[in-house]
Amino acid sequence: MRRTYKMLSSAVIAPLILVSCVGTSPQKSADPSDLKTSQHDSENFSYCTIGDCTIMNSALLRTNLQIPVTVHHTCRLPNQYAMTFDDAPSDNLPNILAILKAKQVKATIFVIGKKLSTPEKRALIKSAYLQGHQISNHSFTHPDLTKLSAADVKKEASQTRDAILDVIGRDERALNGAHYLRPPYGLINDQVEQTLVAAGFETLRWNADRADWSLSEKDRNVVIARVKQQLDLIKVSAGKNINPSMLDLNHDYSEVTTLALPTMIEMIKEKGYKFVTLRECLGAKS
Ligand SMILES: [Zn+2]
Repeated sequence: MRRTYKMLSSAVIAPLILVSCVGTSPQKSADPSDLKTSQHDSENFSYCTIGDCTIMNSALLRTNLQIPVTVHHTCRLPNQYAMTFDDAPSDNLPNILAILKAKQVKATIFVIGKKLSTPEKRALIKSAYLQGHQISNHSFTHPDLTKLSAADVKKEASQTRDAILDVIGRDERALNGAHYLRPPYGLINDQVEQTLVAAGFETLRWNADRADWSLSEKDRNVVIARVKQQLDLIKVSAGKNINPSMLDLNHDYSEVTTLALPTMIEMIKEKGYKFVTLRECLGAKS
């Protein structure tokens, strides 16, 4: 196992795990301290990023990427599929919302707080919320949180929560949504996790990433193939103590995701999944 980064012109970084043990069970970490706090720690799940799929669990992610075991990667129930869109709101968000509405899918939208600086962008998020989607937190300036002081981590999270709530109001659904935070690039360590949890936030990454940020609009078939790969891995892993739920990662600005989205949704529905917001995915009462 090794940790690599792939750079994009926009300085997007995504952690990769390059392994070739698809269909086999990973070995547990030898360190018992890794295993005591996560509700998912004994559970394997499919983990796909940038075309690489493997069977993973929180203890192994801790060992390989230093991801705290309390960071969520899956949903609670086996038939749940949480579809998520990061880096919102972009000008493309209305196109995503139109497809989700036509397909009757509720999703979760992760907001970069500083993008809520114009009335137009605020209106987009408000309309997404009113359409039933969950609005969640993706930091204020999209930094690598592991490079910041605890005070700055807290500021990134709190400023974004406040910006979201100023737009969508402060009812219970809004407050719940805004307390979920996905760290930019999925980068998080113990200090960041402890700071965020102490400040009232709950963190998550993903277990299904098509890397749409690295693809162009010509790559629709690549996205479709990656969705199929992820669904097939779960199918061949049935009966191997796998949590088959999916918590995916898309970007609201992605043209290729927009083009692939109707087909993706149908493929996922055909497998028997129920689309849920993150709030439902992680077990909160709906
Ligand atoms: Zn992001």
